[in-house]
This record gives sequence, structure tokens and C-alpha cells, in this order.
Amino acid sequence: MNKIKLIFLFMNITIIGGGIGGLALAVALKQKGIKAHVYEATPHLYSFGGGLIVPPNSQRVLASLGLDREFKRHAVALSDMQIREVSGKLLYQSDQAVVASHYGDGIRALPRARLHHMLSGLLDDDQMHADHRLVDLKTTSVDATATFANGISVTSDLLVGADGRDSRTRELLFPQCELVSTGQVAFRGVANIEPDRQWNNSFVEIWDAGRRFTFFKQSDGETYWHAPVRADSHRNVVQIKPLLLQEYIHFPDQVQRLIDATKQFHSVELTDISPLPDWWYKRVVQLGDAAHATSPNLGQGAAQAIEDAAALAGDLTSHRHISAALNAYQGQREAKANAVVARSRQMGFVGEATGALRWIRNLTLAINPDFARRHIESFYS
Ligand SMILES: Cc1cc2nc3c(=O)[nH]c(=O)nc-3n(C[C@H](O)[C@H](O)[C@H](O)COP(=O)(O)OP(=O)(O)OC[C@H]3O[C@@H](n4cnc5c(N)ncnc54)[C@H](O)[C@@H]3O)c2cc1C
Repeated sequence: MNKIKLIFLFMNITIIGGGIGGLALAVALKQKGIKAHVYEATPHLYSFGGGLIVPPNSQRVLASLGLDREFKRHAVALSDMQIREVSGKLLYQSDQAVVASHYGDGIRALPRARLHHMLSGLLDDDQMHADHRLVDLKTTSVDATATFANGISVTSDLLVGADGRDSRTRELLFPQCELVSTGQVAFRGVANIEPDRQWNNSFVEIWDAGRRFTFFKQSDGETYWHAPVRADSHRNVVQIKPLLLQEYIHFPDQVQRLIDATKQFHSVELTDISPLPDWWYKRVVQLGDAAHATSPNLGQGAAQAIEDAAALAGDLTSHRHISAALNAYQGQREAKANAVVARSRQMGFVGEATGALRWIRNLTLAINPDFARRHIESFYS
């Protein structure tokens, strides 16, 4: 065992947030012999069972964490990605067999909670601490102390803020960084039916002026969907189902059936952040949405958190000093993560374009079908 590795084996690492990034980091560190502790705000560790697209770039990392077979057993291999105008006109289609020939696999889908479950299953029970909401933190050049709402305090050599887009660690460390609304609210839910036969294995996105509808099968008998609409007229809606049935009345019948077959509705205001100049300060470092919260228009948010996790675990065990490791981590990750944020925002804007912009968009996609492909698939490597 080399000297560098030995130094890190004895490090105390606290991870704030048991979401996808925090869990992936704990697994990646455990693989390297470091037992990190994960503190999660909620009393349970599994979030809303909505679906998640897992692109090839994060599938490769999950495989390296030991989740290849189990992941493939549970995740639906989608055959293609389609973007259509509300009229039904096909704007973009990507055959996932072709994607797989370039990147090793195509996109797959599964309930988000299942991925949480798989990742936490690779950890020891005593690594997980539910019901610990970080409220405060202090850091010096040698350690960081987290204080939780339940009164408990923990001091460690390194604290990782993996506490998502509304990150308390980011708020405390980098108060100048604010969430930026994309101007959209996304309604979402899981329908207890599968998509009709023609779309059964597809990722489908339907674009209309000012609104979109996305759906894909997430497991046998379940379809996840989300529906971004303009935020100004859709905040604080109480009766979501009737509103959506009305809002999407001119969409294909499939959309109405999915809304109708949904029991629980969720809504979230879509936000992202401008690039953080620094991802770390003294003994605190940010990971996943806490470092680069993105709008969900590319299906890359969780994927980037997973890539961060592997990079941070690798850097921590290959540098002699923590500051050098954290510098290397930020250097390795920030360009791609920030590019995802920027491109996802553009994609949201393009998807909901109206008038002349919509016409130009459709013409561009018709003349140059590779345009969208390059934008989406460039993140798969
Ligand atoms: C509508 C929608 C659809 C999406 N679809 C996709 C998709 O298909 N594919 C994809 O890759 N990404 C998708 N994303 C993005 C993805 O959800 C996020 O990018 C991803 O979850 C980020 O992982 P994370 O670990 O950084 O944060 P999270 O997964 O958000 O985890 C953060 C964790 O920290 C906990 N926490 C928060 N505050 C505290 C605190 N103070 N103390 C302790 N714990 C705390 C939270 O409870 C949570 O468990 C989507 C997002 C949205 C909104």
C-alpha cells in the first residue's frame, strides 16, 4: 500500500446528503478503503419514486462501483429517444443501438429510489445517518464541524456538501451564489400503466409553445412523466390533475392517459446556478447539484453527480495534500458539469420556443439532424 493511500485511509469524511451523489461518493470511497459517514436530512433514505434517465457516461461509473449487473437487471433499456412537435412531427430521433455502439450502452431508465437503494446497499448500515439536517458548519484549515438540527455536531477532516440544488453547505460557504429560476415549473408523476406499444420502449419528449411533456417506462407497469410549463401562471396549483388534463388537451391521447393514470402529483420549480468560481473552501467541498445545480433538460444532473463522486474519490486517494486533491477534483470536473448546466438551459428554451424561433428551430433540426445529436450525446463520453 503506498504512502499517499495510507494518509487517506485514516481520514474522517462526512458527507452531507444521502442523495445519488452523496451515496455514490460513499461507495467509491469504501471501494478505496475509506469509510465515510453520510448524514441525510430526511428520516427515510429514498426519495419520490419518480424515474431517472441514466446515460452511458454514468452507467460506466456505476459499473466501476460494482453495480453493473444489478443495475442492468432493474433498469429499462430504452430503444430510442424521440422529440416530436405536438402535431406528431418527428424533430429528432436517436437509435440507442447506435448510441451503444459508440458509448458502450444506450440510455436506461429506472425509479430513482431503486438507484438509491442499490447504492446504499453497498454501504455498511452504520455509515448512514438519517434524520440529520445540517443547519450550520464551521471550517478551519484542518477540519470541518457540521451541526445538525437534532443538536448533534460532528467534526471531520473533510466535509462534502452533497446536499442537492438547495444546498445548505453552499448557502453557508458561498452565500453570493443564488439559484436562478428557468421560469418553468415541472409537474411530474408516475402512471400505473406502460406507454402504448409504439412508444413502449422509447424516451419521448413532445414540444409545444410554452410547454413540454416527457415520458418513459421506468419499470414494468410504470411510466414516469414530467411536464414543464411556464412558472408565472402555474405556481401554487392545488388541483393539479384537472389543470394538466386541460393544459395538455391538444397533446396526443397517450399524454391524457398517463395523466389520468397518475395518483400522486409533484411539482418543482426548475432552477440552476451560475458557475461557482470555487467548489471548495478549507475542508469543505461541494459535489453534484450542490456544486452545479442544473435544469433537467438533458437527463444529466444525477449523471454529473455520479461522475463527481468517482473523480473526488480518485483524487483524494492520489494526492498527498487535501488541498491538492480538491484542486484536482474541481479541475477535472468543472468544465463538463458547467457545460451541462448551460446546455440544459438552452435546451429548455429551445424546447418551448414560440413563433419565429420555433420555426427556425424546426428548420434547423430538419436540415441538420446531427445538430441535436451532437448536443445531447457529447456528454456521453
Ligand atoms: C423534474 C426533474 C427530473 C430529473 N430527471 C433527471 C434524469 O432523468 N436524469 C438525471 O441524471 N438527472 C435528473 N434530474 C436531476 C437530478 O435529480 C439531480 O441532478 C441529482 O439528483 C443530483 O444529485 P445530488 O446527489 O447532487 O442531489 P440530490 O439527489 O438532490 O440529493 C441531495 C440530498 O441531500 C439531502 N439534503 C438536502 N439538504 C440537506 C441538509 N441540510 N442536511 C442533510 N441532507 C440534506 C436531500 O434530502 C437529498 O437526499 C432531474 C431533476 C428534476 C427536478
